[in-house]
Amino acid sequence: MSPIPDDLRQLYQEVILDHYKRPRNFGPLQGAHHTAEGYNPLCGDQVKVSVKLDGDRVADLHFEGAGCAISTASASLMTEAVKGKTVAEAEELFRKFHGLVSGKERAAATATDDQDLGKLEALIGVRDFPVRIKCATLAWHALRAALHGGDQVTTE
Ligand code: ZN
Repeated sequence: MSPIPDDLRQLYQEVILDHYKRPRNFGPLQGAHHTAEGYNPLCGDQVKVSVKLDGDRVADLHFEGAGCAISTASASLMTEAVKGKTVAEAEELFRKFHGLVSGKERAAATATDDQDLGKLEALIGVRDFPVRIKCATLAWHALRAALHGGDQVTTE
């Protein structure tokens, strides 16, 4: 794994802080079709993800809950990234995102994937802190549970 350049690290931290302080798509979602909650006992993060579908497309999604900066920023970034995507595209995005934060996939700066991770890359720093990977992926696990009809997930 190549180290993250300092200027990028700085930018990523600003993105995370911004989404932590002003989370997007935060709060209950009127008329949600699916809802699932996630809990990360290691850190105490709690998140509830609500999804509204239009066919197999995620028309809208919101999150609620309380957690650390990483889990909140990741949930916020996830809602922005997934909105408008199909369920299959959301799954693919999660696969790539998980690869990124777990250090199994390289930053998209070197990737040639057609689907750019965009701002989700801001969370790449957690790959250096394995315990934080659960914070970063909690909302995604909750999203998947919601899309697959479950209603509760835990990172354990
Ligand atoms: Zn956390």
